Amino acid sequence: MSDGSEPRDATAAADPRAARVSDDSEPRDSAVAAEANIPGIDRARDDLGLRPSTTTNGPPAGASATDTDRTSGVAIGSAEPETRRSRRSRSASLTPNPTHEDDTMTASTEAADLFRRATGREPAGVWSAPGRVNLIGEHTDYNDGFVLPFAISQRTAAAAALRDDRVIRVTSTFSDEAVEASIDELESLFPTPEGTTPAVAEWAAYPLGVAWALRQAVAADGAPSEAFERGLDIVFASDVPVGAGLSSSAALEGAAAGALNDLWSTGLDAKQLARIGRRAENEAVGAPTGVMDQMASMLGADDNALFIDCRTLDANLVPLGAAEAGLEVLVIDTLVKHAHSTGGYRDRRDACERGAAALGAEALRDVAVDDLARAAELLDDVTFRRVRHIVTENQRVLDTVRTLREHGARAIGELLLSSHASMRDDFEISVPELDTAVEAAMAAGAVGARMTGGGFGGAAIALVDAAAIARVTTAVERAFAEAGFTAPRIFTVAPAAGAHRDA
Ligand code: ADP
Ligand code: MG
Repeated sequence: MSDGSEPRDATAAADPRAARVSDDSEPRDSAVAAEANIPGIDRARDDLGLRPSTTTNGPPAGASATDTDRTSGVAIGSAEPETRRSRRSRSASLTPNPTHEDDTMTASTEAADLFRRATGREPAGVWSAPGRVNLIGEHTDYNDGFVLPFAISQRTAAAAALRDDRVIRVTSTFSDEAVEASIDELESLFPTPEGTTPAVAEWAAYPLGVAWALRQAVAADGAPSEAFERGLDIVFASDVPVGAGLSSSAALEGAAAGALNDLWSTGLDAKQLARIGRRAENEAVGAPTGVMDQMASMLGADDNALFIDCRTLDANLVPLGAAEAGLEVLVIDTLVKHAHSTGGYRDRRDACERGAAALGAEALRDVAVDDLARAAELLDDVTFRRVRHIVTENQRVLDTVRTLREHGARAIGELLLSSHASMRDDFEISVPELDTAVEAAMAAGAVGARMTGGGFGGAAIALVDAAAIARVTTAVERAFAEAGFTAPRIFTVAPAAGAHRDA
């Protein structure tokens, strides 16, 4: 295996320059990381009573592959197929269903159906992975920090079967065009040189990029099976809204990774597949995103959020308890499209790297709230505000985990709101539509609200009393109409299972 799961060389990790050139998704040896840290934030994390940062791969020692310990472990790649009934009941309040012919169809049955029509044979299996909502912790992932997303019930499914030749043929309900590449071609297609577009249709760069990254990871050990030398037909269907900040891209990568990993018998675990997905997104598609989306999609669980330490990739389930508290999470999709591969996102990443370098920190994770006064003296105003967002946001994630545990979901409203203010004023990634969504939701009685996802468009979330959903929805729609904005798409989401094989 050479997927970057090995702990790093201590000397390299201790040198901030060396660490920055390499892929920041790779977990570091925890002792090295602890030494390099300003201890504040890591002590705060440890105080939460979460598992120490030693395991970077696979289930915690003593846990089975389907362990769902709510306090210390994480469900790793639960193989339990979700029943159609449970999916339907969880997505009952979902309005958008962009591709399904009727609403008794799930992405999974639709993918299998299309597979039969497109290939004239039965799929060997169907795999699916969910979109995600980030409850709190924005742009902290690529700063080695903390995030708290949850997987949602909207999923992308991949129906697939091996072929007798070496061709990988991908088809999606989102595109008329099937895209083919031979296994032998993948290395000439990827990585996509920085600043250029992928050599295949962009959507196909996600699944073909996953195939490429998976083969790269496994190749070092030699082909694991005869199947590894065969191509596949893969057909995707999805009910994850695209470009809404719900990470349809991670859902697509997760579904592709599940199918490839099983059919090629490559045997990678959920965290390794999350890294493969991220590599596809970064290097094949060219979108410089962190690893949060893929981790949430691979490892999420019903009723839980997933607290992720993006430095170590330790992941712990945290019961959200929204239903218990009589609350629902409302998504307000502004329909303003964001584009990760361009402009703002890259610019914010650069500012974070600049800030960390100027402060002599390996990453902004290593800068504590108490260091901000010194940062204000050293940094220009814009860089300082970018840094302040990341540093305070990391703290807010830890505070949210603690608050959820100690006081329940109803108590996190203020944290969501200050997160939004920080993104609006310091990180400057909000847009008027997102601010309007948050303000209107709060004015109509939401417990808390914030924009979610990378910013520059996409969605906001609001934590709302179940009984007030209609009132808040109407208030937001009215505010959008008054401001002359396109009517938003508003629906509820519930924390749901991560990636698994469906059939
Ligand atoms: P999001 O916030 O939804 O992840 P991204 O821009 O990161 O937005 O990813 C969206 C892109 O992912 C789409 O433009 C498309 O290329 C690809 N994509 C997502 N879902 C599918 C799908 N089911 N079929 C084909 N392509 C998809
Ligand atoms: Mg995405």
